[in-house]
Amino acid sequence: MINVKHISKTYTTSKGRQVQALDDVSFTVKKGEIFGIIGSSGAGKSTILRCLNLLERPDKGEIWLANTQLTNLSERQLQRERQQIGMIFQHFNLLSSRTIFDNIALPLELTKTPKHDLHTRVTELLELVGLSDKANDYPSNLSGGQKQRVAIARALANNPTLLLCDEATSALDPGTTKSILNLLQTINTKLQITIVLITHEIHVVKAICDRVAVVQDGKIVELGDRSQIFGSP
Ligand code: ADP
Ligand code: ADP
Repeated sequence: MINVKHISKTYTTSKGRQVQALDDVSFTVKKGEIFGIIGSSGAGKSTILRCLNLLERPDKGEIWLANTQLTNLSERQLQRERQQIGMIFQHFNLLSSRTIFDNIALPLELTKTPKHDLHTRVTELLELVGLSDKANDYPSNLSGGQKQRVAIARALANNPTLLLCDEATSALDPGTTKSILNLLQTINTKLQITIVLITHEIHVVKAICDRVAVVQDGKIVELGDRSQIFGSP
């Protein structure tokens, strides 16, 4: 599903200093799996995710999503590719002035979904994430876990094939983390959505990832099945 081949990325800071964020990173993600990228702060995880999400272009190397080479695409083509990618974040990034219903509806509005279809889809998504009774509430009335459920529903609105998770449970307590990870697992198996997540929390990758890449100083230092990396449970 995803094939990352020898990507490198160097940033130039505002003071003109060069920072090599990624150095010859390669990995593949198979369709239907949950792939975890773990590493400490500054290791390069976010840069990998931003390259997958097409927000950043690597300086070198190729990224293939299904049969498309992303690194060659025009901005217009990238926009089309982005529609098959959903994304969730550590701090949820909901719009506080919109109700839960309208937050989830946003991507459907952007793709000009007819009103009736939009209503059906949002209702279905609210049910999927267990928040049907919160449709008319505002984000400020929800707990962290509930906000992340809304963000997940919004990310799934346009039926993506891939869900990218950026430290999605780092702001949540252990109990809530578990329920969000369960939801991600359900989405993965029931809807057959491939998931790539980045995290600094080892228990997260241990809980749900099929395969794991360990990133350190811009390089992948270990890559394999969860049991290869962490031993059998
Ligand atoms: P992680 O997500 O693992 O914390 P990042 O991908 O954010 O790592 O960062 C990798 C390295 O690149 C770090 O040294 C970071 O400071 C640097 N970096 C990330 N983004 C930028 C940027 N926009 N400009 C300059 N340096 C950056
Ligand atoms: P995270 O790793 O959780 O994504 P960071 O705090 O590392 O968040 O980065 C936040 C933002 O700052 C990102 O957009 C990143 O590109 C940028 N950034 C990170 N490190 C640097 C840096 N050394 N110089 C300039 N910008 C940076």
